Amino acid sequence: MATDVVVVGSGPNGLAAAVTMARAGLSVAVYEGAPEIGGGLRTRSLFRDDVVHDICSAVHPMALASAFFREFDLAARDVELLQPEISYAHPLDSGRAALAHHALDATCAGLGRDGRAWRTLMEPLLERSQAVVDFALGGQRSLPRDLRAPLLLGLGMLRHGTPLARHAFTGQKAAALLAGVAAHAIGRMPTPSSAAVALLLGHLAHGTGWPLPRGGSGRIAEAMVSDLRTHGATLTTGQRIDDLRDTCGARAVLLDLSPKEFLRIAGPLLPRPYRTGLRAFRYGPGAAKVDFLTSGPIPWAAPEVGHAGTVHLGGLQEDVFQQESLVARGKPGGEPFVLVVDPATTDPGRIGAGGHRPVWAYAHVPHADPTDPADIVTARIERYAPGFTETVVARRSLTAPGLEKYNPNYVGGDIAAGAMTLRQTLLRPLPRWNPYRTPLRGVYLCSASTPPGPGVHGMAGHLAAVSALHREFGVQTTPSLSPAAPPTPRS
Ligand SMILES: Cc1cc2nc3c(=O)[nH]c(=O)nc-3n(C[C@H](O)[C@H](O)[C@H](O)COP(=O)(O)OP(=O)(O)OC[C@H]3O[C@@H](n4cnc5c(N)ncnc54)[C@H](O)[C@@H]3O)c2cc1C
Repeated sequence: MATDVVVVGSGPNGLAAAVTMARAGLSVAVYEGAPEIGGGLRTRSLFRDDVVHDICSAVHPMALASAFFREFDLAARDVELLQPEISYAHPLDSGRAALAHHALDATCAGLGRDGRAWRTLMEPLLERSQAVVDFALGGQRSLPRDLRAPLLLGLGMLRHGTPLARHAFTGQKAAALLAGVAAHAIGRMPTPSSAAVALLLGHLAHGTGWPLPRGGSGRIAEAMVSDLRTHGATLTTGQRIDDLRDTCGARAVLLDLSPKEFLRIAGPLLPRPYRTGLRAFRYGPGAAKVDFLTSGPIPWAAPEVGHAGTVHLGGLQEDVFQQESLVARGKPGGEPFVLVVDPATTDPGRIGAGGHRPVWAYAHVPHADPTDPADIVTARIERYAPGFTETVVARRSLTAPGLEKYNPNYVGGDIAAGAMTLRQTLLRPLPRWNPYRTPLRGVYLCSASTPPGPGVHGMAGHLAAVSALHREFGVQTTPSLSPAAPPTPRS
């Protein structure tokens, strides 16, 4: 019997697409080019067997908040999402640091005169957090019934995504703290897109949180794979699809691929206007990753930073804006924005024998920049944590082109799978009413290059699958994803 559905690529979106299809009672086959399942959700040892490292994603605000994962319910599947006491920290010189505690009150108290402005920004978003998340992480083609969520986001984007952002706070700490979250958009700053990212992730830091899965991000992929196996799906690794025609026979094909990879495997089959549109898709700046094995915790000059799940190294707001804008223009050098996670501060089980621990870090660099980030990232951490270098036992780096080699979806090291310009935030990959459908019958794109964009939320895969269920199989009801729901009988 031919398979109903083929999914190419097993990142969080590919797996979410496969889960949704399998839950509808369809036969599903997943093909992954790499030797391991998971895409951006892989965890493995790099230097010692007893210490595991997250190769890509490490921190999961969206895997707790998104509609897909809310229903999939990771907690009920024994994936423990551990909440750091401080969601993220932003050290500054002279041993100072701005802190986004999980508790909003504690955050505001630490921001002095700007505490009130921080509360005014975050509290209304927190009051309707689910509506904000569902709008921001939705298909972006319909307005919700309650218009307050998009209105709040729109107003916040005007205030924090334009030159007004420079005057939003009176002190340095709050301004730097928000700039650090906005920098997750990886691009020119301030822009409406960077502000949207700041509002979404910023308010989640005080709501559902920025958790780390106990044991690493791979636990999320394992839970999804387990659900797929329970529902009869097959998964094949080490099989990179080079020609879309190799998937023929399936009634629906869902591609967890970048537009570049889609063009590589299906270019000549696509009508010229669509092909030209995909060729014009813009990729953004890159990331360059460094994994460290250290002999102890990072000796932050501001000790509170050691309680944070995520640390942003970017200096003052003006430094973050300037450096991110330079990187977006393709200018290397300077002191890049660096994100650091010492997962053992939240998950002590990550500490190996002799106190060895993994430290995860990456820098924002120009698109396809070939510079080895190891020394630059080490120096960035050392600036705010004197003595860090002496704790480093081993390190491994991946340049921006190295990341693309590791995963073809990260074109030029662009881990957002497409530049986060306003146009591409709203209309990725192309301006089409249904962004997931392609002109090829039964073929859908479902990667982070489609709405709602990057991150581990599963929504692009889920929404593409729902669209394919309606169109290709006439299934109008979205299947339950809950672990408690009985399997749907095969049609
Ligand atoms: C260093 C780094 C840090 C990150 N940190 C975070 C974080 O902390 N939190 C967060 O939410 N997000 C983070 N992200 C982003 C997140 O990992 C991605 O947005 C997410 O994984 C995208 O999911 P996806 O399913 O669209 O694609 P991917 O996860 O990229 O998966 C695509 C899969 O398709 C496979 N593939 C590609 N081409 C083919 C082919 N032709 N045939 C077969 N298989 C193919 C690839 O091997 C890959 O496994 C990070 C990413 C990186 C690289």
